[in-house]
Amino acid sequence: MGGTFEIRLMGDPVLRQRAAEITDIDGRVARMVDDMLPAMYEAEGIGLAAPQVGIQRRLFIFDLYEGDGPQTLINPEIVESEGEWTYTEGCLSVPGLTFDIVRPKEVHIVGRDLDGNEVSIEADELLARLFQHELDHLDGVLLVDHLERAERKEALRDWRVQLAQLQSGTNGPAESGPVPLVGRNAAAD
Ligand SMILES: [Zn+2]
Repeated sequence: MGGTFEIRLMGDPVLRQRAAEITDIDGRVARMVDDMLPAMYEAEGIGLAAPQVGIQRRLFIFDLYEGDGPQTLINPEIVESEGEWTYTEGCLSVPGLTFDIVRPKEVHIVGRDLDGNEVSIEADELLARLFQHELDHLDGVLLVDHLERAERKEALRDWRVQLAQLQSGTNGPAESGPVPLVGRNAAAD
């Protein structure tokens, strides 16, 4: 294990709770991020929220693999959003499944970094999508919650099959379609 966190899968109640604000940005938070990074990179994700590793704190890490390295957002808040964009979203907590989801195209997010400094980012398309997706995790919301009722039912059925395969260790069909928020190759396309 080497201090690395295991990514929780949909069905785990920890993914359905609202995470608490981080009041002290101290060494413990930095160590938590240090442990989250390998979990995100091993899964080739572009974002990972603390609840996904079982920690109920308002923090997520992200890296679009554009050479800037990983970044951390603490107590993030979207203060403005605009437009509409359909994107095929995946989630490290729902591996193997993707869904076309409509959300605002641009967002303005504010928060703090690991040094406690204020961060303000205006993001578009993929980065904006990532922020909205990760912020959802801090509120106990998963991507299937954005689907229409019938679509959601089907998604949950598919997930039960997928989960059974994951848990039995057969890892399901080695299907590798576009898995944008999961696979770094797809994300770079
Ligand atoms: Zn996710």
